[in-house]
Amino acid sequence: MTDLFARHRRVMPDWLALYYDDPLEITHGEGRHVWDAYGNRYLDFFGGILTTMTAHALPEVTKAVNEQAGRIIHSSTLYLNRPMVELAERIAQLSGIPNARVFFTTSGTEANDTAMLLATAYRQGNTVLAMRNSYHGRSFGAVGITGNRTWSTTSLSPLQTVYVHGAVRTRGPYAELDDRAFIDACVADLRDLIGQGRTPVALIAEPVQGVGGFTSPPDGLYAAFREVLDEYGILWISDEVQTGWGRTGDHFWGWQAHDRNGPPDIVTFAKGIGNGMSIGGVIAPAEIMNCLDANSISTFGGTQITMAAGLANLTYHLEHDLQGNARRVGGLLLERLRSVAARLPGVREVRGRGLMIGVELVRPGTDEADPAAAATVLESARSGGLLIGKGGGHDTSVLRIAPPLTLTVAEAEEGADILEDALRSTY
Ligand code: PMP
Repeated sequence: MTDLFARHRRVMPDWLALYYDDPLEITHGEGRHVWDAYGNRYLDFFGGILTTMTAHALPEVTKAVNEQAGRIIHSSTLYLNRPMVELAERIAQLSGIPNARVFFTTSGTEANDTAMLLATAYRQGNTVLAMRNSYHGRSFGAVGITGNRTWSTTSLSPLQTVYVHGAVRTRGPYAELDDRAFIDACVADLRDLIGQGRTPVALIAEPVQGVGGFTSPPDGLYAAFREVLDEYGILWISDEVQTGWGRTGDHFWGWQAHDRNGPPDIVTFAKGIGNGMSIGGVIAPAEIMNCLDANSISTFGGTQITMAAGLANLTYHLEHDLQGNARRVGGLLLERLRSVAARLPGVREVRGRGLMIGVELVRPGTDEADPAAAATVLESARSGGLLIGKGGGHDTSVLRIAPPLTLTVAEAEEGADILEDALRSTY
């Protein structure tokens, strides 16, 4: 055990999990690569849990951060803040939400907590719908809408949450149905749920579940849900913490795979927009955003240094069509991994879109999750020079691949080669 690992163990909480038997200390990065404390170089296909969205040490972001740090780092929202207003204007416009207001937080958790605060205050109730296998954050409120048992640290909650079917396409009671029948069954389930209790104030959903193992419903499910929600005045909240900013390739926001008629009532975001700086936030129409009847503040939310990073990152992202790159390079990577998987009995499914790809592992010849294999593949990919993530439902058996959106075709091929070797040596 390294000295740092031992010190980590002594002072950090036990529930703060580390990857790898011999945990990695990443000391620096550049582009799609990072280096550890021993000087080993890795291709980074997890980007610090999808936060390094564009690239490590992106000169444009580094410059913006340096310049801002030299002027002022933080003044709080008690004073006018030019980069915060500018980023809010750009995000409001990109959201498509009419008369949008933006509130910045420091994390996805706090963004979703705020969405709950808004929805419960606006609709005057605390019954909420969330999806099975969801992850929305670690606070007391956000855990209350997190259906994934691995991350459900308490059963106590300020919310009455009812979990809905539909976010996991290939497992569960409707898995055998075709897409249309699957959607119909989930809609019927939703109606049944709504009819049984207090009318919920909102449905919160990740368009592609992140922590849950990059699972998603058939396109159009949330549009079909929305017809029912609208009948009851139930708000639709899209948690775009992982799916936002073009990561899914086909769309800028994950919700666009579902509803071409318009945006959700509330959108939450975090992770990638700051390219590693802690930016989260909520977008909602003024009527919803302004429904709180007391002051509310996130002291560090929208702080100048993070906003400067966000602005530089977003500008780079749009000018270089990173959504298009995610679609093209992600499409190639997905195809390549599917052809590798077709020859391996332990790979149950390769799924995803854009640069958000999940590889679900099972005990060969069965449908049983294989978390041990996932851990082995992670170790072996690391030995080969590739960092990936993992996640999944009740058992962590899905490899998660989510590289920075500037990934090149050559890097995608190199990463796929390493992953192929790691999978082959495991099965
Ligand atoms: N929502 C989703 C979809 C997430 O994936 C996460 C983080 N994994 C969160 C919310 C919480 O974000 P944070 O960890 O920044 O609080």
